[in-house]
Amino acid sequence: MIIVRDDDVLWGRRNHKFDPLTEVERFKQVHEWLCQSNQILHVPALLVTSLQMYPDGIKYIRERTELGLMRPELHGWDHSDYSIMPMEQMRQHMELSLAWFYRVGLPRPSKLYATFGNVSEHMKEISNEYGLETVGLDKKKTSLMRICKEKRDLTMFENGKEEIFCHWWQCRDFPLKLVRRLETGSWEQAPTTDTQ
Ligand SMILES: [Zn+2]
Repeated sequence: MIIVRDDDVLWGRRNHKFDPLTEVERFKQVHEWLCQSNQILHVPALLVTSLQMYPDGIKYIRERTELGLMRPELHGWDHSDYSIMPMEQMRQHMELSLAWFYRVGLPRPSKLYATFGNVSEHMKEISNEYGLETVGLDKKKTSLMRICKEKRDLTMFENGKEEIFCHWWQCRDFPLKLVRRLETGSWEQAPTTDTQ
């Protein structure tokens, strides 16, 4: 299984000028593209405070999760840099976030995807207290956009050990390119034009 980690879910940084879809529509499109391959698992990394503005988005994430089609994890209560946050404050953010997952009916997350990819020792320690594994980020190695553009070999992602990284709002039709690559075994069959 290839895991595609999708950060900052529904955080409003989409370029409205060039993107006719609403935030929820864009996120759904990315998810539904990824679902076209049964070799991919979509893992949205949730920012709780920004997601609260999108009840439709939360409902969608819950439904898709119940169907086993995505596995939401935690990115943060907000987009704070947890690697430098005082420990008590970070504990508060973790507690609020886990309570929210429970309240909206999502399974308890098992990972904290570090904001900005920044990881520190005390951050790992606190994540552990809450049963969360801290995951950093190596954009050069794992960016979906780079992988598609450079037509890279996917072996390192195949057992789900390394995860592919994207942002739902900037990944254009790269998820679809990845799906076609897995379907056909070749990057040459992947679509060449962006759909937006
Ligand atoms: Zn982020």
